[in-house]
Amino acid sequence: MAHWRRLGSIIGGRRIIGALGALYVIFAVLRVFIGFNIGEPVSSIFIIILLIAVPGFVLIYGAYWLSRGDINTEFHADIAGWCLVGFGTMAGLLILFHLQPEGGISEPLTGIPILTALSSVAGLGIGIYDGRAKSRTRQLKRRANQQDAVAELGQIALETDDLDDLMYEAARKVADALDNDYCKVLDLDPENEELLLRQGVGWKEGITGEATVSSVEAASQAAYTLANNHPIIVEDLETETRFSGPELLTSHDVHSGISTIIGPFNEPWGILGTHDTVRKEFTEEDVNFVQSVANILAEAIEQAEKEQQLRERQAQLDVATEAASIGIWTWDIQEDVVTADEYLAELYGMDPVTVTEGASIEVFYDQVHEDEAEETKSKIKRAVEDTGELKAEYRLKDGASTWVEIRGEVEYDGGEPIRMHGAVANITERKEREQRLEELIGQLKESNERLEKFAYAASHDLQEPLRMVSSYLQLIDSRYDLDEEGEEFLEFAVDGADRMRSMIDGLLQYSRVETQGDPLEPVDLECILDDVRDNLQVTIEENSATIDTAPLPRVQGDPDQLRQVFQNLLDNAIEYSDDQPTVHVTAERNGTDWIVSIEDDGIGINPEEQEQIFEVFQRGQSRSDGDGTGIGLALCERIIERHGGDIWVESEPGEGSTFSFTLPSSGRQ
Ligand code: ADP
Repeated sequence: MAHWRRLGSIIGGRRIIGALGALYVIFAVLRVFIGFNIGEPVSSIFIIILLIAVPGFVLIYGAYWLSRGDINTEFHADIAGWCLVGFGTMAGLLILFHLQPEGGISEPLTGIPILTALSSVAGLGIGIYDGRAKSRTRQLKRRANQQDAVAELGQIALETDDLDDLMYEAARKVADALDNDYCKVLDLDPENEELLLRQGVGWKEGITGEATVSSVEAASQAAYTLANNHPIIVEDLETETRFSGPELLTSHDVHSGISTIIGPFNEPWGILGTHDTVRKEFTEEDVNFVQSVANILAEAIEQAEKEQQLRERQAQLDVATEAASIGIWTWDIQEDVVTADEYLAELYGMDPVTVTEGASIEVFYDQVHEDEAEETKSKIKRAVEDTGELKAEYRLKDGASTWVEIRGEVEYDGGEPIRMHGAVANITERKEREQRLEELIGQLKESNERLEKFAYAASHDLQEPLRMVSSYLQLIDSRYDLDEEGEEFLEFAVDGADRMRSMIDGLLQYSRVETQGDPLEPVDLECILDDVRDNLQVTIEENSATIDTAPLPRVQGDPDQLRQVFQNLLDNAIEYSDDQPTVHVTAERNGTDWIVSIEDDGIGINPEEQEQIFEVFQRGQSRSDGDGTGIGLALCERIIERHGGDIWVESEPGEGSTFSFTLPSSGRQ
């Protein structure tokens, strides 16, 4: 049968049937012609026509019908075989009958053709019946194979994480199920407008992973498929008019095939194509099968891409958490399972398996130092029940040397707390730094207090001997009659003692700024300025000075100390000016603070001195011979700092100076 089928398929089953039919028709015509010539009755001629020509026509029609019927072409040769078997059997029987001693066919030229024609038609009928049954079985088997292939591929897609493996398997199964020579998975590279033969079966060695086809050229079946957004079937590439077929197909002698898109049409990943070297018809089911496989591939590719993204993100997160020394944790509140990463396990000194697989939150509470345990628990409770956010710092149980900071955020579902995600960081170093800083601040405070006490005691105790020096100098002056030079020396000595007293007074005030100051309270600067103006009345008049003030605010301050600040600054403004100075006092708002400025048109200050003058006993070069002690601005700075503000000067030598300082507003403006 196999040999016959091969021979049949070479000659063509339909051709054989058609030719047999044609022979009968020709014979019938000849027989009629002979019948007329020998004067046979018309009725017998008619019967001959009916019994020979009609079966002939039936055979010819049968051959034609097979081209459109639902019987697989592969079985056409078998049908032709059945015809010939019908013909041969009848012919054999007739020959046997004819060879009988009493037998013999009276009219062999009529009887034999009639009987063989009829038996050929009977053979055709049996063949068609047989071919149909076989076709149907073949179809069912094919469909079952296709379904099996789809199911198996789905399973492989679930199990493997190697896309190329899956693609190869897909290609193999498609080619097998459709009985095709080739199958290919093309990977689209939109930038280069080409498709790479990523995996496939049947292709010449060495081209898988190398060969490309254009994704835009008119010759390419793949390009045509991409442009049309639906599966494309080719029955015969030689007669195909939509495209001519790219080199990859023509060089493999491809004639027929199906190609379909992998992935969404608007964003295709590539093409799945299967081809055969013979002309072939494909059913709608075949196309659906190829599409199903393409869909499995598309899903697997999407999944793989998502997993890849996830892996990349996880890797980034790992790098970030490692660099930042951060551990990540999640608490399933409903199930009470905390899972965390290995960094956290290491930090807490816990078993990494317990930590990564998950444990009750109680297990983690156990790691918290007892001093902070209750507070931490209540903070977590508050986060879950109320705030949704957690921030806590605590020591670990490990001998209380490790400090951690924990932060978390609660995830709710319809108001119900579901999970809390968070991070934990080792803050031991920061804590140690803070602790050291606190210790240093404490030491600094202590030493400052000691210094203040010393300065106070020293300046206070110095006053007494100084008073003695002054009173004895006065005694000398009143009791002794000194010559002119002696008077002059005495004057210097008294002057020196006076200067010293002023300096000691200044020092005393300076050392008392922090310790002896009053609490800060709302102060009206207008009133302060009025007092200062009264105090400086004599100076103002002597120098014909004008003090010009803008409205001044209420601030938060110590009235006595602020009086000292205004007095020093106004006094300086007048002192370090030439005749008839004009001083402007202004105030401007700066957020929650006020900036108060005292501007004069005096001698100004050299830029290099503008910082020094705020130091104790530092005097400007300009008037170093004057009366001042060099402590006024230092005192102002200390007072302003006590109020949480800053003081600075802007000045142009010869043009004037503007001293500005900030004070907190009283909040009742
Ligand atoms: P004193 O006025 O007693 O010298 P201060 O601390 O008040 O001490 O001032 C320090 C120095 O700053 C002064 O010696 C002076 O040179 C300079 N100075 C202060 N105020 C002004 C001003 N308004 N104009 C120019 N120079 C000033």
